[in-house]
Amino acid sequence: MNIILLGPPGAGKGTQAKILERERKMVQLSTGDMLRAAVASGSEIGKKAKAVMDAGQLVSDEIVIGVVADRMDQPDVAGGVIFDGFPRTTAQAQALDKLLNEKGKSLDAVVEMRVDDEALVDRVSGRFTCAKCGEGFHDRHKRPKEDGVCDICGGLEFKRRQDDNADTVRSRLTAYHEQTAPLIAHYSAQGKLRTIDGMADIHEVTRQLAAALDG
Ligand code: ADP
Ligand code: ADP
Ligand code: ZN
Repeated sequence: MNIILLGPPGAGKGTQAKILERERKMVQLSTGDMLRAAVASGSEIGKKAKAVMDAGQLVSDEIVIGVVADRMDQPDVAGGVIFDGFPRTTAQAQALDKLLNEKGKSLDAVVEMRVDDEALVDRVSGRFTCAKCGEGFHDRHKRPKEDGVCDICGGLEFKRRQDDNADTVRSRLTAYHEQTAPLIAHYSAQGKLRTIDGMADIHEVTRQLAAALDG
């Protein structure tokens, strides 16, 4: 099964993608994670992407589509992909349709996670992740069971993203509304869109997501 989690920054896409990975034989394909890895490695792509990401704008379609196409050549995508943070523009959506088509694959569902803008600033400002395994946490909504220790891997080091500040979040939200929200109509026209309530607590969102995928 190949699915897209569609929603603004902080909607809970990464959180639910990691739960799905554990529960089903699917892999998370997060273009944000892939671009951050490129920035950290100092590659050509990383150098081009860094300033754009720091400003909360979208990296060019050409770069992002190239990164996804390479990733889709790896064997572990055969069990199904959870696209997280991709596509974000109509051009990316068209490129994905084409890419899947060429590989004899298709999209099973696009799940829109709806969250109010006001809640997103709080979600993003309180977000941190385990430096070792990447598990996501939140200062108030999802604290580690034991303070300072990752629930998943026992890691003791955590990190926060440079672009997770209130100012940059505003730009990222504007980019979402202007460039990404039109995809809702694109996938609705394909009959693939399901909408769930991203404002609910994490367990309830997981339940709604499962119902959207299996129902
Ligand atoms: P996205 O990948 O869509 O940007 P994340 O999954 O990283 O979003 O979630 C953003 C932050 O909000 C994280 O700190 C996460 O722990 C927290 N979070 C995720 N889902 C919920 C939820 N349903 N209710 C409250 N907080 C949540
Ligand atoms: P979030 O879900 O919190 O918005 P991501 O990790 O998905 O964050 O993305 C972080 C940044 O990486 C974005 O603000 C953007 O600059 C860049 N980025 C990620 N995915 C894409 C994409 N599909 N197209 C263009 N830029 C992207
Ligand atoms: Zn961890």
